[in-house]
Amino acid sequence: MRRYTSRMATPNLLMIPGPIGLTPEVLRALSEPQRGHLDPNFMQAFARVLKRLREVLGAPQAQPFVVAGSGTLAMEMAVANLVQPGERALVVNSGYFSDRIGAMLELHGAQVTHVRSEPGDFPSLDEVERALASGRFKLMTVTHVDTSTGVLAPVEALAKLARTHQALCVVDGVCSVGGEALEQDAWGIDVAFTASQKALGAPPGLAALLAGPRAMEAWKARTKPVAAMYLDFAQWLPIHQAYEAGTPSYFATPAVNLISALDVSLGQLLEETMPARVARHVRLAKAARAAWTALGLEPVTKREELTAHTLSAIRYPAGVDAALVKHVAAAGVNIAGGLHPALKASSFRVGHMGAVTPGALLETVGALERGLRAAGHRFEPGAGVAAVQRASM
Ligand code: PMP
Repeated sequence: MRRYTSRMATPNLLMIPGPIGLTPEVLRALSEPQRGHLDPNFMQAFARVLKRLREVLGAPQAQPFVVAGSGTLAMEMAVANLVQPGERALVVNSGYFSDRIGAMLELHGAQVTHVRSEPGDFPSLDEVERALASGRFKLMTVTHVDTSTGVLAPVEALAKLARTHQALCVVDGVCSVGGEALEQDAWGIDVAFTASQKALGAPPGLAALLAGPRAMEAWKARTKPVAAMYLDFAQWLPIHQAYEAGTPSYFATPAVNLISALDVSLGQLLEETMPARVARHVRLAKAARAAWTALGLEPVTKREELTAHTLSAIRYPAGVDAALVKHVAAAGVNIAGGLHPALKASSFRVGHMGAVTPGALLETVGALERGLRAAGHRFEPGAGVAAVQRASM
């Protein structure tokens, strides 16, 4: 009973692939007195968020949109504004969230072609190029980090291919933006979208999308209206422009408190600087990989260069099943089970993005060791923890 009460008061260390733990400063921003959506202080925060997102994504030319909703809403905003019924779309498919955008494109009337690989692998650039050459595609989608497999896509090379074949390049950066290297303008990405609750370090509830000049042109050239008012750039563009110009405007009530929290987390992110933040994620991911190996565990990803730095997807060792996640929770750390239908019963996932420290990774690996022991897996106690120490000191 005592334990139950204390766990209610202090939740476990949150190491799932989003939402992630928040810094005290972000939490404080959430507990500020409520402001109105036209409060001058909030208007400045909103304008700063848009400016800061351009910096985080390396997209000075892009038009940012930040609306209340999750990553799925950002995905649907990209789809609804860019495709018209009958147009063709190519989905470079690396897992569950690539399937989702494919289904969404079909729902909005696109003719969808998938280039797929085994879960944990990624289609070759040759396969993608052949697919692009096989027809006139309005757009190509890439999931930068597929959260169901832990696979990191070679976005820069893919964006180049899309451009060569005159297809817009749309990147799902929900599990990458703020943690992985991503240079929207320099890499020629037309739309990148993300959500607040992952490597950007804010609570869930905000969808963010940055549309580059070619994407905005494609939207302007539509012959049919966008069939969803809440998703339509036409509704949101004047509002976002007004906030940046410091003039009040209204279409639908913005998520005032979440935007204020995102302003703080983006400020912290840019203070760290994106290059330093990406380097830290790479270091932590390497330390995490060293721990999995030391504990006799195998990643889902087939090759190291395909492995994301924001999360790890790991196979259960022989004799261990999804009960492991509960054993690790009992040791004080929340990790996630499998998500991809083909991997659900055979893998689990650990998030290591945002303000995560080597100390948090040590705690996670320590709890994982306890969970593995409770699940009957044999290994040298402390081997994972020692591997993190060696790799991160
Ligand atoms: N794309 C990716 C790559 C994701 O990881 C997620 C969420 N895990 C989504 C899209 C959907 O985001 P949300 O759950 O915020 O709707």
